[in-house]
Amino acid sequence: MGELPGAARCVVIGGGIIGCSIAYHLAKLGWKDVILLERKRLTSGTTWHAAGLIGQLRGSSTLTKIAKYSAALMTELEAETGVATGFRQNGSLSLALSAERLEELQRQATMGKAFGVEAYMVSPSEARAKHPLIDLKGVVGGLFIPANGQADPANVTQAFAKAARQLGVRIFENTKVTGITQQGGRVTGVETVAGAIRAEFVVNCAGLWAREVGRMAGVNVPLLAAEHFYVVTDASPDIPRNLPVLRVPDESAYIKEEAGKLLIGFFEPKGKALPMDQIPEDSEFINLPDDWDHLARELELASERLPILKRIGLHTFFNGPESFTPDGRWVLGEAPSLRNFFVVAGFNSIGIQTAGGVGKAIAEWMEAGEPTLDLTSSDIRRCQPFQGNATYLADRIGEALGLHYADQFPYRSPVSARGIRVTPLHERLADRGACFGEAAGWERANWFLPEAARARGEKAEARYGWRRQNWFEYTADEHRAVRTGVGLFDLSPFGKIRVEGRDAEAVLQYISANDVAVPPGRIVYTQWLNRNGGIEADLTVARLSSDAFVVVTSSATVLRDLHWLKRNMPDDARCVVTDVTVGEACLAVMGPRSRELLAPLVDVPLANDAFPLGTWRQVEIGHAIARAHRISYVGELGWELYVPVDMARHVFDTLADRGAAVDLRLCGSYALDSCRMEKAYRHYGHDIASTDHVLEAGLGFAVKCDKARGRFGDFIGREGVQRKRQAGLSRRLVQFQLADPGPLLYGNEAIVRDSRVVGYLTSGAYGHHLGAAIGLGYVPCGPTETTEALLASAYRIEVADEQFAAQASLKPLYDPKAGRLHM
Ligand SMILES: Cc1cc2nc3c(=O)[nH]c(=O)nc-3n(C[C@H](O)[C@H](O)[C@H](O)COP(=O)(O)OP(=O)(O)OC[C@H]3O[C@@H](n4cnc5c(N)ncnc54)[C@H](O)[C@@H]3O)c2cc1C
Repeated sequence: MGELPGAARCVVIGGGIIGCSIAYHLAKLGWKDVILLERKRLTSGTTWHAAGLIGQLRGSSTLTKIAKYSAALMTELEAETGVATGFRQNGSLSLALSAERLEELQRQATMGKAFGVEAYMVSPSEARAKHPLIDLKGVVGGLFIPANGQADPANVTQAFAKAARQLGVRIFENTKVTGITQQGGRVTGVETVAGAIRAEFVVNCAGLWAREVGRMAGVNVPLLAAEHFYVVTDASPDIPRNLPVLRVPDESAYIKEEAGKLLIGFFEPKGKALPMDQIPEDSEFINLPDDWDHLARELELASERLPILKRIGLHTFFNGPESFTPDGRWVLGEAPSLRNFFVVAGFNSIGIQTAGGVGKAIAEWMEAGEPTLDLTSSDIRRCQPFQGNATYLADRIGEALGLHYADQFPYRSPVSARGIRVTPLHERLADRGACFGEAAGWERANWFLPEAARARGEKAEARYGWRRQNWFEYTADEHRAVRTGVGLFDLSPFGKIRVEGRDAEAVLQYISANDVAVPPGRIVYTQWLNRNGGIEADLTVARLSSDAFVVVTSSATVLRDLHWLKRNMPDDARCVVTDVTVGEACLAVMGPRSRELLAPLVDVPLANDAFPLGTWRQVEIGHAIARAHRISYVGELGWELYVPVDMARHVFDTLADRGAAVDLRLCGSYALDSCRMEKAYRHYGHDIASTDHVLEAGLGFAVKCDKARGRFGDFIGREGVQRKRQAGLSRRLVQFQLADPGPLLYGNEAIVRDSRVVGYLTSGAYGHHLGAAIGLGYVPCGPTETTEALLASAYRIEVADEQFAAQASLKPLYDPKAGRLHM
């Protein structure tokens, strides 16, 4: 290994599969001076004992791309290094024991078509033919994916390490990192048990220790270990070789054959979180105590499903720790508070099958300075500060493990560790039948159980499923109230960022694609773009005074947007940025009768000429004051009332008292979503993200390339927009409405154009006014292809393996001329 150098370009912390893959991919990009530090020996964290299941179809197009690349790389690595990765593509078979699970698998088969992974449904007898050991009791069907399989996790890691060394990476084992050094908001190196290393980049790949390594740098990495169990049988000649990997999620089990034995692993419904103080500081190759009682139900179900287990013995009970995150998604990317400090952690039991692609994506991100893949859903900037709380993590992580094999129902919200972030109206809404879900840690009202149903003793609780869930009709009524009367939404979790100072306008002009140099009182809808014209943020900017603005964004993106703003603010800008999210509540009154509701309550005229769309005014309401923004995310006449938190209840009560006269209806976030889908309003993180070009997303109307050049130069992304204008679009975001009012769309359904699968829906919801499910999704096109040509094709949307005719539109199907906003 040699002596530890005093300086390196990049230090990778952690010699598990992730750290080794990143070191390899950086070296492959030509990075010199990359060092990997491992506190014990390579693979000795979680990687060594992984089951090695390799799946390629994942829940999003990006994750599937990552998994496909990872699988392909295993074969290449073996050729490159001579280290056998044990990669075998025997396929995988998932069984459904209920109609709901069958639909989930059918939806996955459709996703396979959309994401380019061969996957097809099999009948129970076909399933049995592929895996002769299974008992078919209760099996209603299955999904087979031929290219899936299994690999040897430790060997794949050693192959990465060898390939990395061949490219010049230096790996130091038994070298624990004990501190991270930084200066001026930028990482400068690491301290280790063997001395300090100066470094331009540091990457935290410390697995279940990543939270602790993050804390050394003041960076929040919310994850915690859970115990993950499997058993291994004795070898038996009755176990066929080359069986596909079997998953029976309804029985919480996965099974693979290796060397004539069976390995049976579990994602039991309620896992066991493992607080860090139970993992000895110096431990390696950890095998935790067994717990047969904890798995009694799962073991019994497994032996019914695989009767051979009653005849052969179990020779190993394995219990290994691995890290899970509160929302089941990875934690990736540059830390918002520390430049060049990257986090790559929280793999939630899929680190082996995705390591190759993640290594490539992160190395490219470090090289390019921005992600080359849409990693928004895994981005570290979604993580809320409170989620690093150890008690919260201990209460949530057991559920996170269990959700792995639970039904993947749409709208499913976790049930543990809830009620942490609540709006000032929480109790008011709860008293009126709100069913809350979790969004960015907030309790958000999804829908309201009407009084009559409450009187019958019903509870405001969601019953999940793939078909219409129990709240469908309640949301439909809320939606119709917004379209024909007036609805009240509690949008208090919205992110609010104040931008103030003499250069506030110049900073926002530099960062925004739209022209925000407007007079005080105006509101501008804008995107913040990266240099390629990709969308980094989608928000509104309200000018409060000559030197103050408030930026309003979604609760999920506020930390990300704050980071983008601070990161891109020129050093010499006289401007201060403050997150005031929790200082103001937001009550939105939306619908054609909103003027009638508000007029007697406020002290300003609400007519169009006095209070037009895209403006705000200070108003008196009840005995309080508020900033009323005339703006809408549902496509109707309406106002968002921003109210200091201390007065929020008073304003709510004032509105509610008057509400009886105008049939005011409380509405939840599901109605908000279904209304915005009818209007084809884009949603950040689904329809638009940093890899989606603003013109292809159909948002060119909000980009002002000819606005005056400000103090800090042209706005970021202007060139990227002009390049695309010259080159022409290669895809366009299209809105679809199914002809059949029955099927439901949730996103990821396949778009079929003239009989060919061309893409997938980025989001979907039911259009209660239009009368059918609505989706948005990108359709590839030629640079000179006209709108007419694009729309002349026949479109179908594939839902759960079945295709349905769809109308395609580039204009919103609801109120295309936007007349209702100007009522
Ligand atoms: C029972 C079980 C079965 C699994 N099965 C599968 C499967 O079938 N398929 C799949 O894809 N995934 C599976 N996984 C998950 C997979 O093992 C993990 O996602 C993956 O190993 C995570 O890799 P990592 O490199 O992030 O973490 P680790 O392998 O834990 O590596 C992190 C490394 O960082 C080192 N480190 C920590 N702190 C420091 C420090 N201060 N200084 C230096 N080094 C430090 C640690 O010693 C460790 O070696 C399974 C996990 C378990 C437990």
